Amino acid sequence: MKEHIIRFWGVRGSFPTPDRDKYNVGGHTSCVEVRTADNQLIVFDMGTGFVPFGNALMTEKNAPDTANVFISHFHWDHIIGYLGFTPFFNDTFTCNIYGKEDKLDIHTIFGRLHDYTFWPVEIPMYQAKFNLHTFPKEEVRISENITIKATLHGHPNGANSYRLTIGDKVIVYSTDIEHPEHQLNPNVLEIAKDADVLIKDAQFTNEQLPAHKGWGHSSWQQCVAVAEQSNVKQLVLYHHSPGNNDDAVAQIEKDAQAEFANTIAAREGLEIKLPV
Ligand SMILES: [Zn+2]
Ligand SMILES: [Zn+2]
Repeated sequence: MKEHIIRFWGVRGSFPTPDRDKYNVGGHTSCVEVRTADNQLIVFDMGTGFVPFGNALMTEKNAPDTANVFISHFHWDHIIGYLGFTPFFNDTFTCNIYGKEDKLDIHTIFGRLHDYTFWPVEIPMYQAKFNLHTFPKEEVRISENITIKATLHGHPNGANSYRLTIGDKVIVYSTDIEHPEHQLNPNVLEIAKDADVLIKDAQFTNEQLPAHKGWGHSSWQQCVAVAEQSNVKQLVLYHHSPGNNDDAVAQIEKDAQAEFANTIAAREGLEIKLPV
């Protein structure tokens, strides 16, 4: 059976947590791969999960020769894995990276990542084709039946939610989002409408939100509310707090499932399959 596969390489928020009591959920930060049934490759974020993802790609038979990467925003936990991506040293590989519109030009941002004080490798050392883009106003068309749209949402310095359409299937990636007080962000409700899968920031609980105003994150209860109001089929809780161990994430998953049955907490190695 032909299917699109969503693979979770990094599900942790803020910073990596290679702790023994967090091993089942996993310690890598944000990185999600979408592999379409026709073997096209779309990636959301380049947290530390981007490193094992790149290594797996290098050993895969019939691996795609192009990756289209969409960065929600430029905080460290969403880009640091970029520096350890081995396919950059493969001359048959192409990597197109799209970032949100920012005060800084995207070339300046990546130039700073490679500042010699912090890292020894420079972009001209890459052998792969390497293209940086600011996400355009309208959409990006990856192929005839694959398009991606973006909307800005609230987070310190802002972040993008993405809506990926593959034929008749829709995957929405919305992380590092703080909703306005006492309401849900209407842009997010709109971009998540009728999605097959919604991957959403669930760093906090409603009880924790007041003490973390301005930190830029959501509660799992807000994830459930968006899933219900936007008529989402499956909800994936994502960007787990670095303070939450395996038991805490399992409890959040159970609590969320009691309110929205088709909910799963993202774990490293989780695959969600969408039949074509
Ligand atoms: Zn983050
Ligand atoms: Zn952030």
